[in-house]
Amino acid sequence: MGKDSPIQKDVIIIGAGAAGLMCAIEAGKRGRSVLLLEHNEAVGKKIRISGGGRCNFTNLHTTAGNFISKNPHFAKSALARFGPQEFCKMVENHKIPFHEKKLGQLFCDKSAQDIIGLLKKECLRYGVDIFLGAKVMDIAPKDFFSLTTPQQELRSQSLVIATGGLSVPSLGATNMGYQIAQKFDIKVNPCKPGLVPLTLQEKDLRIFKDLSGVSLDALVSFENRNFRENILFTHKGLSGPAILQISSYWEPKKPLSINLVPDHDMSAVLKARRTATVSLKNFLKDYLPLRLADVLCDHFLENKPLNNYSLDQLQKTGNRLNNWEIIPEGTEGYAKAEVTVGGIDTDELSSKTMETKKIPGLYFIGEVVDVTGHLGGFNFQWAWASGFAAGQYA
Ligand SMILES: Cc1cc2nc3c(=O)[nH]c(=O)nc-3n(C[C@H](O)[C@H](O)[C@H](O)COP(=O)(O)OP(=O)(O)OC[C@H]3O[C@@H](n4cnc5c(N)ncnc54)[C@H](O)[C@@H]3O)c2cc1C
Repeated sequence: MGKDSPIQKDVIIIGAGAAGLMCAIEAGKRGRSVLLLEHNEAVGKKIRISGGGRCNFTNLHTTAGNFISKNPHFAKSALARFGPQEFCKMVENHKIPFHEKKLGQLFCDKSAQDIIGLLKKECLRYGVDIFLGAKVMDIAPKDFFSLTTPQQELRSQSLVIATGGLSVPSLGATNMGYQIAQKFDIKVNPCKPGLVPLTLQEKDLRIFKDLSGVSLDALVSFENRNFRENILFTHKGLSGPAILQISSYWEPKKPLSINLVPDHDMSAVLKARRTATVSLKNFLKDYLPLRLADVLCDHFLENKPLNNYSLDQLQKTGNRLNNWEIIPEGTEGYAKAEVTVGGIDTDELSSKTMETKKIPGLYFIGEVVDVTGHLGGFNFQWAWASGFAAGQYA
């Protein structure tokens, strides 16, 4: 950045992540002069590490039901105008090879860097200016937005906040978006880490930490939410896709239910074998990973031949296997969370444009908004869709 005289743009966007880059491209396409400010030394740092380095850039089955928000309908309008197919078209136009891994999840064949390359090329094509290492110290609304930086004043008609959530501070996450909202008297709903591993209470961890590395297909439930995918025991507690999914809903001090054998009614299975002389431990090895069967029988279930159990005991044992209740200690926090649940209250925004109702010209997009996707490409799809929406109007 040069010194002294103010830089004047039609649109300034703070945050060059997925949402900010998409918004910049779309506003640039409309002939708006756009300046994208990023405090990191590179754009799209989260994109680079996403999806294990291959970026799960969308999900073919995206619906508003894949998002958590105080207003479950809010995301519909933006998703209807820019869905997974629209982003796929961009990916195809740039000849980026990709594949569906499972459940509609689309990943790059080669590297997440391909998606960053696509976004950078489109920004260049539409004349978007990008300032890296940019520090915004203050924002003042006048007839325009005036941004103070160490170098000079920046001015714009429209200001788009795309600073993302709080997860993974080491990649540049800050609370700036929420601070700006507060400054402009815009409501922010409470935030918490989402898509995050859960930690176990000391008493449970003593028993389960030996299972670190063991994974199994399970159905994990909290209140009326269920996710069926793998769970993974870790040295701190539980992780794996089903746990990450439920973590976005879980509330402290409340129990999770884990169905460890989701394809079988274990009470019925055990009762059908009530005359067998096989021990419970050996019997369960056909249904559970070996080490898990051992730990459960050693610490929670009696281990004796099946024909030594009463029908009532077999019923209770089966029920426990289908409904293992555990109260996690907490989560591994923002350092390990993929997303932030909560954020800018959607009542403050137009669902069509993402513009705030209170301050004309001020927009919030992407993860900073109280719209949080499930695991599987939905968070990027929200970033693209909300960035696209704001890009049509800013
Ligand atoms: C490890 C990991 C893997 C993930 N994998 C996937 C995946 O495969 N699929 C998926 O859909 N989602 C994935 N996500 C979630 C996804 O990355 C985010 O939901 C998405 O990046 C949000 O986009 P955004 O543009 O709103 O925010 P971000 O991508 O976080 O971008 C915000 C930008 O703003 C910048 N910024 C912040 N504060 C300031 C400031 N004060 N001044 C200037 N710039 C600032 C940041 O440096 C950043 O570049 C993953 C997340 C993590 C952490």
